[in-house]
Amino acid sequence: MTRVEMTLQVKEISGQNPFLCMQCGLCSAGCTGRGIMDMLPRQVMRLIQFGNAQVLDNRSIWMCTTCLTCTARCPRGIDIARVMEALRTINLRRGDGVLAPEDLAAEFLAEIPQMALTSAFRKLSA
Ligand code: SF4
Ligand code: SF4
Repeated sequence: MTRVEMTLQVKEISGQNPFLCMQCGLCSAGCTGRGIMDMLPRQVMRLIQFGNAQVLDNRSIWMCTTCLTCTARCPRGIDIARVMEALRTINLRRGDGVLAPEDLAAEFLAEIPQMALTSAFRKLSA
């Protein structure tokens, strides 16, 4: 995938225009997942603007809980949570990060909270 193709895919899937981002950082400052992210939402937006495919391999897009705080704070009206979802979707369509029921051990299934399992399947299936 070329740089242009990646950025266009994010735009198409999310319905958001990443080029509206002015790098103010308000999304990052309020992000509830920032403590466990390797790249803050503002940085994610920057890499998308540059068409840098590294943005698809970062941990942050999987740590995002879709809490919508960033979306509510963005002065440019960008729904960043949708952008994060688009990045996950691109990965899942490539076959990366997909959670398959048959890959889960019975002991794990017996212990994991049902809500966590439901949430994981919602997020990790294309
Ligand atoms: S939706 Fe995701 S990126 Fe935005 S503030 Fe919440 S955890 Fe952070
Ligand atoms: S709040 Fe909006 S404009 Fe500011 S850095 Fe985040 S995405 Fe960009």
